[in-house]
Amino acid sequence: RKQEAERLLEGRKRLPVYEVRDEITKMVADNDTVIIIADTGSGKTTQIPNALMRSSTPCEAPRVVVTQPRRVAALSLAARVAAEVGCGVGGLVGYTIRFDDKSSKATRLKFATDGALLAEMLADRDLDRYDIVVLDEAHERSLRTDMLMGFLKDIQKRRREKYELWEKEVKGKGKEKGSDARDPSPLKIVVMSATIDAKRFSDFFNAAPVVYVKGRQFDVEVLYAEEAQADYQEAALKTIFQIHMKRPPGDVLVFLPGQDDIESLTASITTYMKDLATTYPSRGSLLICPLYAKLAPSEQAKAFAPAPPNTRKIILATNVAETSVTIPGIKYVVDSGMAKEKQYHAAVGIDSLVTESISQSSAMQRTGRAGREASGICFRLYTEKDFLELEKTTKPEIQRVSLTFAILHLLAAGQEDVWKFDFMDRPSKESITAALLTLHGLTAIDAKGRITSFGRQMASLPLEPVFARVLLSSFAEGCPSDIIDLLSLLGSRDNLLVNTVATRDAANLARKKFVHRTGDHMMLLNILKAFEDVEKDERKTWCKDNFVNLKAMNQVLQARVQLRERCERLKLDWEVSAGDDAEPVLNSLVSGLFANTALLQPDGSYRHTTSRRLINVHPGSTMHNKKVPAILYDELVLTTKTYARGVSSITPNSIRTKAPSVFGN
Ligand code: ADP
Ligand code: MG
Repeated sequence: RKQEAERLLEGRKRLPVYEVRDEITKMVADNDTVIIIADTGSGKTTQIPNALMRSSTPCEAPRVVVTQPRRVAALSLAARVAAEVGCGVGGLVGYTIRFDDKSSKATRLKFATDGALLAEMLADRDLDRYDIVVLDEAHERSLRTDMLMGFLKDIQKRRREKYELWEKEVKGKGKEKGSDARDPSPLKIVVMSATIDAKRFSDFFNAAPVVYVKGRQFDVEVLYAEEAQADYQEAALKTIFQIHMKRPPGDVLVFLPGQDDIESLTASITTYMKDLATTYPSRGSLLICPLYAKLAPSEQAKAFAPAPPNTRKIILATNVAETSVTIPGIKYVVDSGMAKEKQYHAAVGIDSLVTESISQSSAMQRTGRAGREASGICFRLYTEKDFLELEKTTKPEIQRVSLTFAILHLLAAGQEDVWKFDFMDRPSKESITAALLTLHGLTAIDAKGRITSFGRQMASLPLEPVFARVLLSSFAEGCPSDIIDLLSLLGSRDNLLVNTVATRDAANLARKKFVHRTGDHMMLLNILKAFEDVEKDERKTWCKDNFVNLKAMNQVLQARVQLRERCERLKLDWEVSAGDDAEPVLNSLVSGLFANTALLQPDGSYRHTTSRRLINVHPGSTMHNKKVPAILYDELVLTTKTYARGVSSITPNSIRTKAPSVFGN
C-alpha cells in the first residue's frame, strides 16, 4: 500500500489543486466558510479533504466529511483517496452511503452521500462529530445538497456559540475523569464547485471568500451533427465505430441518459463487432465499460482501470461522469445531449425519471472531459443550432421535484416552520403545499402541520416517505418481514433480472415458475424465497439458470440486513411474515402508494385513480396485457407514453379502506 501511495503521489503533484493546498487550508483556518471553484479533474475532491484532514484547523486532528450527490462517486472517491493515503477503505478514510457504511472510529476523512449526512443529522443535530463539512459538487444543486446548505448555516452559528461558551468556561480546566467526549469546535464549511458561478454560494454564506484555482485544460475540438439525429443510440453507435476506424488511439467516453440506453448500446456494439470482426482486427479490439449509479462497485472499477494493450476502452456512462468522477485516458467524448432527470409529475403527484435535453453548461462540462491529459475531440450528436437553443444552466433540483422527503426531513430535524427555512433557491408555494398534503395523507403530520410520532419513525427510515409508510403499515398487517424483503428487492430491481433481447424468451420460460397471479411484487418475493432455498455454493448456477443477477441478489440481502437493523433500533419486531398470503403485502403497499393506483375502464384501459390520466402497464411487467379491476404500481416511467412499472393487481375497495384519508376517518 505504501508503495502504491508513493507512486500515486507523482501524479498528484501535477494537479493544479495540489500546488495550492496550503493556501486553501490557510483560508479555511482564517474563515468559517470558503468557496472553492476549479475545473473538473483539477484535484478538488481527492486533494482538498486530504489536506484539511492533515491541517490543525479548527482543532488538532480534525474530522472531515465530504458530501457527494451520487453513491458511485462516494464509493470510488473513498477508494481512490484511501489508495493515495495508503490505507484501506474504512480505516483513516471511509464512506457512508445508504445501506452501506465503511467507516470506523479511526476514520478521519469520510465520503458520504448528501442523503447519508442528512440522515446523520437526525441523531446528531449539530453534526458535532465533524469539524469540517465539505459540500462537493455544489453546482449540481441536488435537493439534498441544497437542504444541507440551509441546515449548515444554522449549525455553524450554533456551533460557534457553543464553542465560545466552552472556551470561556471550561477550556483549560481539564476534562472530567473518564470522559472521552470531544471538545466543542467551531464548524468549518467548504463549498466546492466546478462551475464559475460562485456568487450565489458566497452570498448565501454571508459573503464567504472564493478561491479560484486555474485548471490545466487542453484544447477540445467540438464537432456537431450536421443534421438532427432521430435516434441518439444509433448515432452514438456509428460515431463510436467512426472513431475506432479513423482516429488515433485514445479512449472514448459516451454520455447517455440511463442504464437502459447503456445496456442496449452495449448489446448493439457487441453485435456490430462480431459482424465486422474481419474489418476491424487491424484497429485492435474494443473494451466496453458501463458506468452508472446502480452498477456494482467491482464493475464500476473497470471503467477506471487502464485498457489492456492494443485495446480501446469505450466507457458508456450516465452524467455521473460529467463532473463527479474523473476517468483517466479519455481523448474522445460522444455526447448524446440527453440526461435522465427526476421531475415532479404534478398530474399524478409523484416524481418520475424523464429523459431531457441537457443544459449548455452540462454540454460544456461533458466536452471538457476530452481535454484532461491532452487535446481531444468532442462529438455532439446534435446540431449547433440545437446547442444554442438549450437552457444555459440546469434548474436546481429543489425547484423541480416532489418535496415530500425534504419537508418531512426538515420537520424531523426540528425545523418548526418549514416556510421559514433558509433555502438558497426557494421552492414554489404550490410544491410546499403539495408536500404537506401528501405528508398529511401519509399521517406523518397532523392537521396543524406538526410531525407525528409516526412521521418521526418514517423520517428515520432510509426510505422515501411513501415506502417508509408502507413498511410501518406492514407491522399492523402482519407482514413486516415480507415488506422488508420486497423493499430491498425494489432497491436493486433495475438489474435484478437478466433481460437481454437475445435471452428474453428463455428467461421468461425459466422464470415462469415464479409468476404470481397478483403480479410483480409477489413474483419478486417468490424469486427471493427460491434463491434463499438454494445452498450458497449453488446459487451462482441457480442464478444463471433462472436469468437472475447474482450480484444484485447479494445487494438485496445486504440492503435487507440494514433495514432489519433499522427496525430493531426503532424497537419494531420485523420477524413476522404472512407466508404465502398476498393480501397483507398488497394492503401495506396501498397504504403508502395509494396515489399510485389506477382503475380499469370499460374500454380496457387503466386510468389514474384521482387524476384520470391514462396509465399503461410496462411491457416488462407480468401484468402487461392482463385486465384486472384495479392496479397499484411502484414506479412511473415517462417516455412517449406513461408507463407503470412494478405492477400488482389490487381490489378497488382496498384503495378506499387501506389508504389513509387526507380528511381523517
Ligand atoms: P475534481 O474533484 O477537481 O474534479 P478529482 O480530485 O476528482 O478532481 O480528480 C483529480 C485527478 O485524480 C483526476 O484528474 C485523475 O487523474 C485522478 N483520479 C481521480 N479519481 C481517480 C480514480 N478513481 N482512478 C484513477 N485516477 C483518478
Ligand atoms: Mg470532484
